[in-house]
Amino acid sequence: TYIVNDNCIACKYTDCVEVCPVDCFYEGENMLVIHPDECIDCGVCEPECPADAIRPDTEPDMDKWVEFNRKYSEQWPVIITKKDPLPGAE
Ligand code: SF4
Repeated sequence: TYIVNDNCIACKYTDCVEVCPVDCFYEGENMLVIHPDECIDCGVCEPECPADAIRPDTEPDMDKWVEFNRKYSEQWPVIITKKDPLPGAE
């Protein structure tokens, strides 16, 4: 599974969305997220991201980002506000 991290904020370049074969990107107010259960781990989106915001969940300390991506994918269309801070921003 790949996920989106906070490098995506205010980028929304969306080339990643164009290449995803299963349409598992969801759009938030200021960043995109990937539904971790829908991602088929193909990896084609990763090199499309100019912000290096798409990372495999096998990297260290990714659990919070997996849950963040799942939470906001399921709330689509999502609104990310200052009352609902990104992981690590509390
Ligand atoms: Fe979509 Fe593949 Fe990227 Fe997963 S790894 S989000 S399936 S393009």
